[in-house]
Amino acid sequence: MRIDLHTHSACSDGTQSPAELMRAARDAGLDVVGLVDHDTVSGWSEAAQAAHDVGITLVRGMEVTARYSEQSVHILGYLFNPEDERIQAHMAALQSSRVDRARLITERLSADYPITYDDVRAQASDANSIGRPHIADALVAAGVVANRSEAFESILHPSSPYYVPQRAICATDAVRMINEAGGKAVWAHPYAVKRGSIPPLEAFDELKAAGLFGVEVDHRDNPEQTRPALTAIVEERGFARFGSSDYHGTGKPNILGENLTSPEVFHALTQGTFLEVC
Ligand code: AMP
Ligand code: ZN
Ligand code: FE
Ligand code: FE
Repeated sequence: MRIDLHTHSACSDGTQSPAELMRAARDAGLDVVGLVDHDTVSGWSEAAQAAHDVGITLVRGMEVTARYSEQSVHILGYLFNPEDERIQAHMAALQSSRVDRARLITERLSADYPITYDDVRAQASDANSIGRPHIADALVAAGVVANRSEAFESILHPSSPYYVPQRAICATDAVRMINEAGGKAVWAHPYAVKRGSIPPLEAFDELKAAGLFGVEVDHRDNPEQTRPALTAIVEERGFARFGSSDYHGTGKPNILGENLTSPEVFHALTQGTFLEVC
């Protein structure tokens, strides 16, 4: 079984519709795919229909924008009740603060580059969650940078004067919110050094106490030399070990199925959750 539980559609910052994404997953030889758009579940129903049509199993989820202290942390929530009050409030708050923040970054950029918020909005036409990738797309369209990656490494980097941090919830609160809504929580790419500094060891203990189920070890943003340490952390604390692509269509070089999660971990993930796979 080929299981990739971390992908994005154009409902956040991927480049394919949920239905196109399900077809791409089937073509990539996946048996199970997880859709985890940033702070939105708006792609779930289209993805579920398409997954059924192409004969692939869908795990519905969401990537929650969170922080540990001041560090950016992403928590994946799977198979939770999307009607849960806190989940609903989280999505509403994040979607609207993402708009404010994208406006601010664009305003700063517009002093030096030919870019307006309308240009950015046009790049995010299907997205409920707007973010830096859409600003990057507008910069590409304006000829300022060649691609998203170049934008992220330069004028959209956290060290750039144009950067504005994204409002985020505390990672322990994110884990509790997902659990209380009947889902399971997984820490995405904890050692993604290129995105900022990495969290201290205590973070794993705190998130464990909050009910964290698993950790992404096999992810291209966790540098190879950190994998043994991450493996030890996972084994010592009894976390489930995840591996995934974090596919974003053409928005990132990541390829569907480039890292996989084991059938055993997938099975454990689906036990006792509010939603079932579909
Ligand atoms: P934001 O949440 O608006 O700060 O944007 C961060 C998102 O941009 C991450 O969740 C990634 O999915 C995406 N991202 C990060 N680095 C890159 C990159 N180098 N190229 C394309 N997308 C990226
Ligand atoms: Zn993303
Ligand atoms: Fe992420
Ligand atoms: Fe992601």
